[in-house]
Amino acid sequence: MRFTEEQEHFRQELRRFADSHCKTLAQRDALTEGGTIANSPEMFRKIADHGWFGVSLPEEYGGHGAGMVDECIFLEETARGLVPIKGYSTGLVAVQTYLKCGNEDQKHTIVGNIVAGKVEAISLSEPGAGSDLAAVRLKAVQDGDDYVLNGQKTWCSVAHIAEHMLLLARTDSSGRKHHGLTLFMVPTDTPGVEIREIVTMEPRTVNDVYYTDARVPASAIVGERDHAWRALTRGLAVERLIIATTSTGAAQRALDDVVAYVTERQQFGRSIGSFQAVQHRLAELATEIAVCRAFVYDIADKIDHGLEDAIEAQAAMAKLKCTEVAKRTVLEAMQFMGGYGFARDFGMEEQVRFNLAPTIYGGSNEVQKEIIVKSLGL
Ligand SMILES: Cc1cc2nc3c(=O)[nH]c(=O)nc-3n(C[C@H](O)[C@H](O)[C@H](O)COP(=O)(O)OP(=O)(O)OC[C@H]3O[C@@H](n4cnc5c(N)ncnc54)[C@H](O)[C@@H]3O)c2cc1C
Repeated sequence: MRFTEEQEHFRQELRRFADSHCKTLAQRDALTEGGTIANSPEMFRKIADHGWFGVSLPEEYGGHGAGMVDECIFLEETARGLVPIKGYSTGLVAVQTYLKCGNEDQKHTIVGNIVAGKVEAISLSEPGAGSDLAAVRLKAVQDGDDYVLNGQKTWCSVAHIAEHMLLLARTDSSGRKHHGLTLFMVPTDTPGVEIREIVTMEPRTVNDVYYTDARVPASAIVGERDHAWRALTRGLAVERLIIATTSTGAAQRALDDVVAYVTERQQFGRSIGSFQAVQHRLAELATEIAVCRAFVYDIADKIDHGLEDAIEAQAAMAKLKCTEVAKRTVLEAMQFMGGYGFARDFGMEEQVRFNLAPTIYGGSNEVQKEIIVKSLGL
C-alpha cells in the first residue's frame, strides 16, 4: 500500500529515535539492566513524551485517533529498532477488549494509562487452560457488592509492572464451559494477589499470578457477567495483527543485521555474502519479509475501513505467516553468522530468544491453522 507523506515522516522519526537510543547492544544493556528486563522505564517515558503511544486509540478516550496503519508503523519500527517496550503491545491487545465491551470509566482509565506510557496486562491462561481457554477455573464468587477471586493464572505477560490485569474468571460452573465466564479489571496491587516470575529464555516478562480471597467490586466487571466468551472471540483481528506486525519488524532487523555481517566477514579470501548459496537464501528471506509487510498493512487498512469482522481468517494467516518468518529469519541469520551468531556480544542470540515465543502466544500457530481451516469450509 502507499503511505501518506505524514506516515512516511512518522516512520522516519521512529527509525531515528530507535537508532539514537537502542542501536547498539551497549545502549540496550544500559536501558534493560544488562538485558534482564524487557521493558525500559526510560523508553516508556520518552515515547509517551513524544505522544506516540496509543496512536490508533480513540480520541474520545484520550488516544490519538489515527488508525491501525499508523499503529502498525509504530509497532514495526519499534520492533525493528529493538526498543525495549514489549509491554506496550500487551496493553494494546488488552485495550481492544476494554474498547469492545468495557464501560466508559474503564475505557478512559485504560486508554489514558496506555497513552501515558503505563502498562496493562491480560490474564487469560491457566495451568489447565492454554489452547483450550474455556477450561478456565479461577473462581469469582459474588459476596454482596464484591466478587471474591480464588485460583491461579499463568503466563501473564508484564503483570509485575502493569497497573491492571484483564482477568478471565469463572462465575458459573453449572452449564457449558463456554458459558459462565466473566472478565474483571483487577488492579495489580489488590490484596490477595501474588505475582511470581516465570523464568524463561527471555528477560523478565511472564508471571504466575495467585489469587487468595482477593476482592474486587462488581463495578470491575468488563462487559457482561457470564458472557466473556463472546467478547473474547469477537474481533480478534487486531490482536493477531499486532503480533504479526511486531514479528515483521523483528524479521527485518535480523535480516538487516545479517546482511551487514556477511558483507563484512571474510573467509576463503572473500566476503561470506559473496557466496551465491548465502545470497540466494537472503534473497528468499527478504522476499518473505516483503510479503509479510504487504499483508499486515493490507489488513490494517481493512480494519481502518471498518472491515475487521470480515478478515478473521486473514488475520490468523498473518499471525501464522509473520511469526514463522521471523523465527526462520533469526535462526538462519544465526547460522550465517557462524559461531558469532551464538555469542551475546554480536546481538543475534538476543533476537533468536525474542522470536521463538510469538508462534506460541496470542493463540498458538496450530490454533491459527484451525481458524484458517474453518474459513475453507472444512
Ligand atoms: C512468552 C509468553 C507470553 C504469554 N503471554 C500471555 C499473556 O499475557 N496472557 C495470557 O493469558 N497468556 C499468555 N501466554 C500464554 C499463551 O497464550 C499460551 O501459552 C498458548 O495459548 C498455548 O497454551 P499452552 O502453553 O498451555 O499450550 P497447550 O495448549 O498445552 O498446547 C501445547 C501444544 O499443543 C498444540 N495444540 C493444542 N491444541 C491443539 C489442537 N487442537 N490442534 C493442534 N495442536 C494443538 C499447541 O499449538 C501447542 O503447540 C503467553 C505465553 C508465552 C510463552
